[in-house]
Amino acid sequence: MDKNFNLIILGPQGSGKGTQAELLAKKINMKIIAPGEILRKKVKGSTLLGRKIKEYSEKGELVPDDIIKKLVLKKLEKIKKDGIIFDAFPRNIRQAKILEDFLKKFHFRQPILIYLKISRKLAISRITTRRICPKCKEKFYPKSKGYKKGICSKCNARIVSRKDDKPKIVKRRLEIYFSQTKKIIDYYKKQGRLIKIDGEPKLEEVFHQILGKLNDYFKK
Ligand code: ADP
Repeated sequence: MDKNFNLIILGPQGSGKGTQAELLAKKINMKIIAPGEILRKKVKGSTLLGRKIKEYSEKGELVPDDIIKKLVLKKLEKIKKDGIIFDAFPRNIRQAKILEDFLKKFHFRQPILIYLKISRKLAISRITTRRICPKCKEKFYPKSKGYKKGICSKCNARIVSRKDDKPKIVKRRLEIYFSQTKKIIDYYKKQGRLIKIDGEPKLEEVFHQILGKLNDYFKK
């Protein structure tokens, strides 16, 4: 597949956005911009910005648009061509407009949105049971190798829950998703740039659907 296009991957927490973004990036040789990952790295450093970000993210709130805007711009300045996957950005209409302006500025194509649909119930069960490896960032679910022992099958580190995967915070993140982020989906639908995917099957199946529907999209 030609990679002269840009994608946004969006869906509720636990819909597999990050995993599918990685699979796509590998398969089509695209670059990922994932504000969530950038923010987690910033929180680790004890800078003023890191502390500010922490205040929001540990409550499950969105980090202010201005901060996200700067972080995304910095990444975009380094990428010189199309072939970008935005993982979980934009998350509200204001961010969607920011992205539109950035893409125009850099003469990049406007993105196609891949929407991974899963129920609220499945989202909660997936997030509250998932663990991550603090070292290599691999994700683990109850059926994954090493899950029961609590050990990463790749690098042997003890796997942990993400700090914001606690039930109360998950509830807040999902509230924001359904009240703000879901509006983005209609925004792209109206522009004819939406690909809707059933995110409930296993990840290989979801990936297969994405590739198939992307191919169909370009045949239109
Ligand atoms: P999830 O989609 O499962 O919530 P992410 O790793 O994408 O996980 O994001 C983690 C947290 O980082 C969010 O709860 C939010 O606080 C912050 N964040 C990530 N992306 C954005 C964004 N585009 N705008 C504002 N805050 C964001």
